[in-house]
Amino acid sequence: MALKLSGTVAIVTGASSGIGEATAKELAAHGAIVAVVARRKERLNTLVAEIEAAGGTALAVAADITDRAQAEQAIQSVVDRFGRVDILINNAGLMLLGHVVDTDVEEWERMIAVNQNGLLYMTKAALPHLLKSANDELRGVADIVNISSIAGRQAWANFAAYNMTKFGVNGFTEALRQEVTKLQVRVGVLEPGAVATELVSQNSQKIQDDLAASDGAAIPVPLQPEDIAESIAFMVTRPARSSIAELWAMPTSQA
Ligand code: NDP
Repeated sequence: MALKLSGTVAIVTGASSGIGEATAKELAAHGAIVAVVARRKERLNTLVAEIEAAGGTALAVAADITDRAQAEQAIQSVVDRFGRVDILINNAGLMLLGHVVDTDVEEWERMIAVNQNGLLYMTKAALPHLLKSANDELRGVADIVNISSIAGRQAWANFAAYNMTKFGVNGFTEALRQEVTKLQVRVGVLEPGAVATELVSQNSQKIQDDLAASDGAAIPVPLQPEDIAESIAFMVTRPARSSIAELWAMPTSQA
């Protein structure tokens, strides 16, 4: 029996770890050819080898998506290799926390560059190809899934700039959905609660310790990356008539 994503080409950003890595494997298991994008090339190569050992097809694309030319080249290299793009998962992200008064502006700029600019560059470069795939006979639909966060719905002290990036992702997603949904490009946002990944490790040890102290009690059992990967796969394997515009995925233990 044909798999649901057989013949499709998916691009997953931030695939060198965490949610992106699990998502690449999950989409490949559904039959998609997967292009995995991030800066750490060795990790991408390992992931490609794992996907191919499991019978899939994958391509490692080393790129810093905060650089517009690299983002555009990443999309182009996928089109050059596979001839189409059906699914874009905008997952790459940074979460740099801290009080506004104490934070270096440079940290905000780095976070905005990935969470917002990178997502914009990848989306803009992929859209013409998605619009084309949406109208061919393979599926009659194409997909963008933007990985936002519970922090795109709720704001907390210490999260101000991260909140800003993710609230922004939610707004962009819904506006774009209205622009292209009638052209058969589904645009959805997925907002995870706490997921056990490397995300917090970019912060100072003190911030990591503070977060562990507060979250350890509040969220004893976080989600695993595979849980989010399955939700993403659900979104992109609906029948062409059905578009999941928003999905909020929480650990049961997170209030
Ligand atoms: P990870 O830190 O494991 O993954 C982040 C990924 O983003 C890495 O693969 C990293 O790759 C990539 N990345 C960072 N900067 C760039 C860049 N400039 N260019 C290309 N890729 C880049 O964290 P998660 O898997 O947790 O995060 C994935 C997404 O999920 C993020 O958008 C995050 O905000 C969101 N999220 C996570 C939650 C959690 O609790 N973990 C909760 C809610 C949302 P590399 O360094 O190799 O470039």
